[in-house]
Amino acid sequence: MSDSPQIIVLFSGGLDSLLTAKLLESQGLRVRCLHFYSPFFGGEAVAARWRKTYGLDIACQNVGPQFAQMLRQRPEHGFGKVLNPCVDCKILLLREARKYMESVGAQALATGEVLGQRPMSQRRDTLNVIVRDANVSDILLRPLCAHHLPPTPVEESGLVDRAQLLGIWGRGRNEQLALAKKFGITEIPTLGGGCRLTERENARRYWLVLTRLPEPCASDFTLANLGCQFWHTEGDAHYWLCVGRNSADNDLLASAAGPDDLILRMRDMPGPLALARNGALWPEEVLRTACQMTASYAPKAVATGGDVYVRARRGEEFSDHCVPTRRCEELWNEPAWDEIKGYVRAEARERQAAQDAAKEAARAAAREARYETERLEAGQLDTANPQA
Ligand code: SF4
Repeated sequence: MSDSPQIIVLFSGGLDSLLTAKLLESQGLRVRCLHFYSPFFGGEAVAARWRKTYGLDIACQNVGPQFAQMLRQRPEHGFGKVLNPCVDCKILLLREARKYMESVGAQALATGEVLGQRPMSQRRDTLNVIVRDANVSDILLRPLCAHHLPPTPVEESGLVDRAQLLGIWGRGRNEQLALAKKFGITEIPTLGGGCRLTERENARRYWLVLTRLPEPCASDFTLANLGCQFWHTEGDAHYWLCVGRNSADNDLLASAAGPDDLILRMRDMPGPLALARNGALWPEEVLRTACQMTASYAPKAVATGGDVYVRARRGEEFSDHCVPTRRCEELWNEPAWDEIKGYVRAEARERQAAQDAAKEAARAAAREARYETERLEAGQLDTANPQA
């Protein structure tokens, strides 16, 4: 890793961020790529392969906690087509990138955005909002579409040669592919690097975590990525069960167990591992049905056609539950995205209405204040009784 990078490139692992890094390197700049990861996108594990394949200086940073907080508070600029808060995401990442840039003594940030490429976050007006809200107008450069934007302080300072930047526009990829060829890149990554918040199957899981847990944190969203997910609701109480689909899921679920979680497994035969979130606090009858669900995913248990034992373990403590293998889908289920989408949109409408009402109230207060000032100036207001 270079000791003193001059410019930090936000690196998703997609083609555009890769080309941005290469384009700046071709100007002789010392470039460091910064890869953010969270339960929703990115990952530390792939960075080693990128370093080797593309010969880049890459640092990784976990933004899971900050991202979870933004989702809990709801994104100020709303969600995109699915549950992707792209504008708020970019603002968050740029703010974090600025902190990183300052900590390593670099002078500028660069992103791989291309104007007109994505409907929500890469329109000109949205790019301006992102820069303003992230407070990066003095340090941000978008090398791939720079010629469609006014010169930035980074170019004006002479750090970067504007003439060597580009004017790519729109959704096509031909220019990027030609550039990749020019840089000798033979392994072409996907366009965006992949984000689970844009995928309905994952988004519905995240929404349930977001709305059914009192204070969901990054590790809850990581858990939502694993295995089959089931929820059971009784009144205001929500119970969350994750059942592994294969041994990789089982291992990850076992390592995700928190202090009040129960690990459920068949006592006498092979079968899946299930995690009951806060299961140590569940009523006995709910736990029994969760054991029943777990057993129903064990083919050997189902083949017995009778009752089987499921062991619920918490650390060294355990209890055995004799249950039938009948699946209780009427109790444990997961709503489809089409249903969840209705809740997401309804909440967004309510939030918008509340924001509009607050703005209207502020405008009315300002009008009233102006009116009073004018009356005072005209000597009409009885200051002893301002309501008069
Ligand atoms: S697609 Fe995902 S990672 Fe990309 S900007 Fe949107 S929320 Fe962020």
